Amino acid sequence: MANSAGGFTWTPSAGRRKGLPTIGAVQPPSYSPQPSSKVHDVIVIGAGYAGLIAARDLATQGKTTLLLEARDRLGGRTWNATINGFNYEMGGTWVHWHMPHIYREISYYGLHNDFIVTQNPGSKEDYFTATTGSKQRNMSHEEEATIAGRVLRKFCNVDGEDLRHSWKYPFATDQSQKLMAQCDKLSCKDRLEEIRDQLSPEELSILESQLLQMGGSSLEKIGLLGVLLWWSLGSHTPTGLNDIALHTRLRSGQSELHRRIFEHAKSSGNLSYSFQTPVHRLEDADDIVTVTSRDGQVWKAKSVICTIPLNVLPSIDFGPPLPADKLEAIQHKSVNRCNKVHVDLNGPDYLSWTSLGTPGKGLVSAFGDHLTNASNSHLVCFGPDPDTPLGISLDDTESIKSAVTHLLPKDKQEEVIINRIVSHDWNDDEFANGTWCFMEPEATTKYLLALQRPHGNILFASADWSDGWRGWIDGAVQSGTTVAKTVILQKGYPTHAASVEGKVG
Ligand SMILES: Cc1cc2nc3c(=O)[nH]c(=O)nc-3n(C[C@H](O)[C@H](O)[C@H](O)COP(=O)(O)OP(=O)(O)OC[C@H]3O[C@@H](n4cnc5c(N)ncnc54)[C@H](O)[C@@H]3O)c2cc1C
Repeated sequence: MANSAGGFTWTPSAGRRKGLPTIGAVQPPSYSPQPSSKVHDVIVIGAGYAGLIAARDLATQGKTTLLLEARDRLGGRTWNATINGFNYEMGGTWVHWHMPHIYREISYYGLHNDFIVTQNPGSKEDYFTATTGSKQRNMSHEEEATIAGRVLRKFCNVDGEDLRHSWKYPFATDQSQKLMAQCDKLSCKDRLEEIRDQLSPEELSILESQLLQMGGSSLEKIGLLGVLLWWSLGSHTPTGLNDIALHTRLRSGQSELHRRIFEHAKSSGNLSYSFQTPVHRLEDADDIVTVTSRDGQVWKAKSVICTIPLNVLPSIDFGPPLPADKLEAIQHKSVNRCNKVHVDLNGPDYLSWTSLGTPGKGLVSAFGDHLTNASNSHLVCFGPDPDTPLGISLDDTESIKSAVTHLLPKDKQEEVIINRIVSHDWNDDEFANGTWCFMEPEATTKYLLALQRPHGNILFASADWSDGWRGWIDGAVQSGTTVAKTVILQKGYPTHAASVEGKVG
């Protein structure tokens, strides 16, 4: 299996090594069944989910399609490395049948029996540890679900009805706009202050940990609206979000699904591609878009679908320049710069263990996922932005070890042995510059439509500004599907008819 340059692993014997094996690596990096000088029907920039789905739909529906990707692999902010036969999901991981767009892809490509569950019962340490400052309490998973659910519900119940009526259809974009705009004025910190006196120190810590895990920044930067969207998508129930969004993943890994989508697109005979090709400039003139890479290669197409993430878009040159509202929108980047770290503990005892805690020592959550092939306990851990007081740099292995150990039950901290650490530093990755999208207060209300709107013959698809599961894999698939359809039908941009100003169609 080939290595991707992304990600790193640390073991006590070999230390830290960069680059990890994955079936997502694409070799050779380029391929062109069409003459490269021709004007393509479409150029798709980015081979994450939004780009892969768009390229597949276009190529299989007869459009000559060129896929340009900066990295050496498929998947963008989702990919799995395979180490000793175990799949470590470096980015987006959990998917579910209540995420309709990605589930359709999973089922279409025959992976509907490929699900495995995170958080499995039955190991020796089968309980939850709440770390509140220097205090700790172990409790059953039933009590964990009750408390974590109760505090999240209190937080999200801004209208006294759990948003069941005002945000009944979280995929629709036209509901209770006044209430949503009102909520969007608030940060998570603001909302927390409204309910703080109703929470015990332990409850407060459990709630803060959940919010920091969701938004990956400091609480004053994380917009409340994003949390309310997740709550509504999680069926307005205390455990709904956990059950849908942190529970089931693909045994064979995200990269397996990417491969299947990519090979399908290739089989059409209409797909050309070039990996390791960062794009630098997009110029739309006389109904032809010219795309220039950093190394000066030039391609032309009738339309371009740009899936470059929100936090990377400021590095791209557009001609004509983007309009003022779109420019302002991309300056207000996603605030989520969380760390995700895999930690293998020696032996199978921690398969069922989970933990939340603030302030922590850089990580605020850890939960048992599966056993590795050597029967070690594989934990997935999250911590907020390294540049906030609660975060740590992933360059510092000792800090990672100490942050995980801090969340472990105090009486076990001395005896636990860390066998392996695996991670991808998304914040230090120029083609992501952060993790899943979470907007700051007011940004969704002000900028979502501007981000979705085409700019002449350049269309924009991304999880970062999708409807529905915004910031998730499902959102990327929805957005890629929608925008490809727009190009295929050559109609107006379908998501928000009222805001269409672009030339497409
Ligand atoms: C750590 C982490 C955990 C997550 N967990 C989950 C989860 O459990 N479940 C879930 O549903 N979602 C999760 N997400 C979110 C989800 O992975 C993303 O929202 C989704 O994958 C984004 O897809 P996309 O296609 O919109 O963007 P991307 O996947 O980022 O794709 C954009 C592509 O554009 C490429 N690109 C960037 N700049 C250029 C350039 N200049 N030229 C050419 N190409 C360029 C990038 O390399 C990338 O391949 C997680 C994300 C992260 C990072």
